[in-house]
Amino acid sequence: MTPLLLATRNAGKKREIEAFLLAGGAALRLLSLSDLGLTADIEESSGTFAGNARLKADFFSALSGMDTLGDDSGLEVAALGGRPGVLSARYAGSGAGDDERIAKLLAEMENVADRSARFVSAVCISRQGTPLASFRGEVAGEILRAKRGEGGFGYDPLFLYPPLGRTFAELPLATKNRISHRARALEQARDFILQNLARP
Ligand code: IMP
Repeated sequence: MTPLLLATRNAGKKREIEAFLLAGGAALRLLSLSDLGLTADIEESSGTFAGNARLKADFFSALSGMDTLGDDSGLEVAALGGRPGVLSARYAGSGAGDDERIAKLLAEMENVADRSARFVSAVCISRQGTPLASFRGEVAGEILRAKRGEGGFGYDPLFLYPPLGRTFAELPLATKNRISHRARALEQARDFILQNLARP
């Protein structure tokens, strides 16, 4: 089994990434920062999703000596010049929750006609502090004027996915996980891992 470190402490994210990467039958043993007891942290300071994914993968692969997958994601709204972007998690301040972020986005877009937006996910796999490969996934949608749906997390209740006429919060998780930005980036990462790191 090839070990791969996931540069996250979020157990939910680990499960989600694990489900994708193991789906192709890769002979992988996935570990999180918490599994290794790594408490060091790195500031996500690059200004781009790809840069932040790389910062995490480089830093933790150098620290652990293990091949490491880092990721970063967020929402880009066209009329806001791509904001909240890399600041999606901190859009309403560091102590705020999803409801406050959603309220702030609705207020900022109250008089905005162009509702187009996209979720973006960047993934980087590094070895000994140097990237081996990087991947990007995106999904286009529209920001509604009120929340719809109870599922998902983050900005999902405001994000309409036009091909299905539903928000990400109205879709079953299995459906979201087929079409999401993260799915699109992680499918490419899985192919790379299967071909280069962990053949079944
Ligand atoms: P991170 O990749 O964990 O740093 O997440 C960045 C932030 O982007 C999250 O806290 C959410 O606010 C937002 N975000 C990323 N992916 C999604 C998604 O699939 N649905 C809703 N919000 C998301």
